[in-house]
This record gives sequence, C-alpha cells and structure tokens, in this order.
Amino acid sequence: MAQTYDAIVIGAGVMGASSAMHLTGAGLKRVLVLEKAPGVGFGSTGRSTACIRQTYSQLELTRMTFEALQLFKNWRDFTGLEEPKGDFRNSGVLFLFPAGEPSLPTILANHRAVGVVSHLADRKERQEEFPDFDFCSTPLDLDADAHDCAYESEALVEPEGGFADPVGTAEDMLEVARRRGTEVRFNARVEAVLQAGGKVSGVRVTEKSGGGEFHAPVVVNCAGPWAAGLNGAAGAPLKARLVVTRNQIVSKHFPEKLKGRFPVLIDMINGIYGRPEASGQSLLFGSVREEDEREEVADPDDYNEVADAPFREEKQVLLHHRVPTFQKRGRVSSYCGLYTVNQDDYHPIIDETSLEGFFAVCGFSGHGFKLSPIVGTLVAKKVTGHWGLIETGVPEDFFGRNRAPLKTHWGGVIA
Ligand SMILES: Cc1cc2nc3c(=O)[nH]c(=O)nc-3n(C[C@H](O)[C@H](O)[C@H](O)COP(=O)(O)OP(=O)(O)OC[C@H]3O[C@@H](n4cnc5c(N)ncnc54)[C@H](O)[C@@H]3O)c2cc1C
Repeated sequence: MAQTYDAIVIGAGVMGASSAMHLTGAGLKRVLVLEKAPGVGFGSTGRSTACIRQTYSQLELTRMTFEALQLFKNWRDFTGLEEPKGDFRNSGVLFLFPAGEPSLPTILANHRAVGVVSHLADRKERQEEFPDFDFCSTPLDLDADAHDCAYESEALVEPEGGFADPVGTAEDMLEVARRRGTEVRFNARVEAVLQAGGKVSGVRVTEKSGGGEFHAPVVVNCAGPWAAGLNGAAGAPLKARLVVTRNQIVSKHFPEKLKGRFPVLIDMINGIYGRPEASGQSLLFGSVREEDEREEVADPDDYNEVADAPFREEKQVLLHHRVPTFQKRGRVSSYCGLYTVNQDDYHPIIDETSLEGFFAVCGFSGHGFKLSPIVGTLVAKKVTGHWGLIETGVPEDFFGRNRAPLKTHWGGVIA
C-alpha cells in the first residue's frame, strides 16, 4: 500500500533541504524527501562556489541575504547541531565597479535600510586592505596589444560576507529536518507527479528506485536543473522561461607570495569572480558575464563537466591583471556546474503552480545558495500559511510565478 505523507519534497539540494526543514518548523509532521542521487550534492549545490554577499538590485533580495548571513554566522545555534558542516568563512566581499557606477546609490541605500555593513573603500584603504590587488579600472581587452591602466574604480566592501560549504550546508539542513521527523530517501527518482480530482496526490518513483507510489496533498518541486521537466510532466509548466546552462569554474593554486587576505572578489570591470577554497590553498574563479551563462544544456544528466581551454586561459589572464602575483598561465584544474536561469529576470519562482498542491521552487540562476536558508520558510508560508523555523521580512509573494519581471541592475549571476 502506498505510504501517505503531509508533504513530499523532490530533491535534496540546498532548496529541498531548506524546504523540508522549514516545513517541519511550520508544523508538518510527516515530510518525505526523495532524491534520485545516492546522496546530497549531485546537482547544482555540489558545484556551487557558495559565495555569500548582500549586494543585489532589489531591496528584498538585500534583506533576504542579510537575514541568511545572520544564520550562516550563527549556523551552529540555528541548526542546533553539535558539529555542523556548513563551515561559513568570513573572508569579506570586495566588489569592483567602474567609476560612476549608476547602481551604487541604490545599493548603498538598500544596505543602510536593511542593516548591511558595507563601505566604499578609497584608494588608500583598498590598497591597505587588499595589498595583492591591482585596482586598475580600465577593462582589459584581450585582443589589444597595449593597455593603459587607470585607477578610477569604485570598491565596495562587505566585511561580514564570505562563503560556505554548499554540500555541508544542505546536509545540515537535511539533518535538522530529519531530527524533526522528516524521512529522506536517496536513490529515489520521481518519474511522475500524481493527481486526483484536479489536485496533486503524490508521486511515483521509477522501477529502478523501488517502483512505489507515495501520497501527499502537497508536492514541492526542488529539482534544480531538472525542475522544469517535472513541471511540464505534471502539466503545470511555468510562464517563466527557465533554461539550464553550463557554467565553468577554474581552480588555481595561490602563489606563495600573497601578502594579504583574499576576499570573495566580484570584479564587474573585467567580469570575473573568485573566492579561496576552504583549505586556503587555491582560488576558485569564474565569470560574471552574461555571455558566459548562455550555453544551454538539453539534458542535465549529460554535459561537459570540464571547463573549455579558451575559458581557462582567458580568465587566468584577467585574474593576473587584477592580482599580478597569479601567473598568466600555468596549471589549473576546472569543473562545470549547472545554473537554472530564469531568463525573464534571473530570480526564482517560489509558488504554487497551476496544479493545486504542487509547488515550484526553482530558477535560482547562479545565485541561489546564499538565499537557501530563507527559501524554505517562504515555502512553508506558501504551503501551510505559517512561517517555518524563522520568519522573514521578504514578502511571501515576492517570487510569485505570475509577477512582472523584477528589475536587475546588471542581470545574470549578480542580479
Ligand atoms: C558553478 C556554480 C557556482 C555557483 N555559485 C554560487 C554562489 O557563489 N553563490 C550563490 O548564492 N549561488 C551560487 N550558485 C547557485 C546555487 O548553487 C544554486 O542556486 C543552488 O545550489 C540550487 O539548489 P537546488 O537545490 O535548487 O538545486 P540542486 O542542487 O540541483 O538540487 C536538485 C536536486 O534534485 C534532484 N532531483 C532532480 N530530479 C529529481 C527527480 N526526478 N527525483 C528525485 N530527485 C531529483 C537532483 O539530483 C538534485 O540533487 C552556483 C551554482 C553553480 C552551478
């Protein structure tokens, strides 16, 4: 006989883990998480650079990341786990913008309104704080023979930001959910969303996964790059244009002669970003250019997982220009991960779909990790009418499926 639950969550990435955790916080007793992989981190979460910054185009996103950061900073208290694995590192965040960046007054006003600690560092301050950096403000043209450095950029520093361990974060939230009664099944691929009387009634997993049916009046789709396929199969496609894209990350050893600390760097002048690996031995870096977010992937189970040689070479040259102690060439390793890009405005959908009881939590583009501890409480409010383990100041309809596209200053991964 099929087993019955209060809610079923599809996917055990950060969004599924957060949703399950907060659904239990909202009073649901029987929550089931179904994950097709043998563990946590086989989707976008396992490939995330997991940078945590609070600079966004929208006040609500600034609030959401500020709230999330307070949780990351107090992760042990929040999760109640003796030895959490989230491993937040307070490296600070350094944003570099061209001089006169038009979005800066709004960003700073949003920071002040929410309580984000940040400052614009003048030339002396930034050089003292980040002695390894060259703050040249002329975009590097890789095809040009000559380059004239100028020093007119804006440097926005968020001293409280940093990065975390993405898989550890998801595992922690899943563990909290488990301790509150959630059942988690790995190697359980959902192949169909079941309906009865025009409402969702549960899911069926594949024969390979044991071939059973699980019933619930609520199903939450947190399947990351696979989510749009499930929405479509359930007859509840979203209006938002969700596209899965391949995104490339390079890893390079730190030169021994680094003089200072290395923050999360978001270089809007040359379109690169990076952050240290937790071991402190290498830098992970990639692109914040929209043109590098466009390679569509038809099948999330089958894509090229190694960065292209031209990408690796170009980003190394850009990194060298910003931090000259890094060599222009040399040995690197690389990998790729998938974004689920909402092409309408780069922000997620967190909402009930046209199928009653079937909720979509997807389209986080390249910036969902930092939002994840708050996402679940928005899910809980949508599903039950109650907040989860915490309340948020983000309006529950902010990520509605029929919203007008949210404005973004820069688009893409920065949104
Ligand atoms: C390279 C890269 C860098 C990033 N950097 C950052 C960053 O610096 N900061 C930031 O905030 N965000 C970042 N992100 C984005 C962030 O990682 C994602 O938004 C987030 O991890 C999405 O989580 P998710 O739970 O929605 O998806 P996923 O982690 O993909 O989880 C979905 C899960 O669903 C499972 N699943 C799918 N279909 C089924 C099915 N039919 N049945 C059962 N299970 C199923 C999958 O196996 C998977 O485990 C980055 C992402 C990438 C790829």
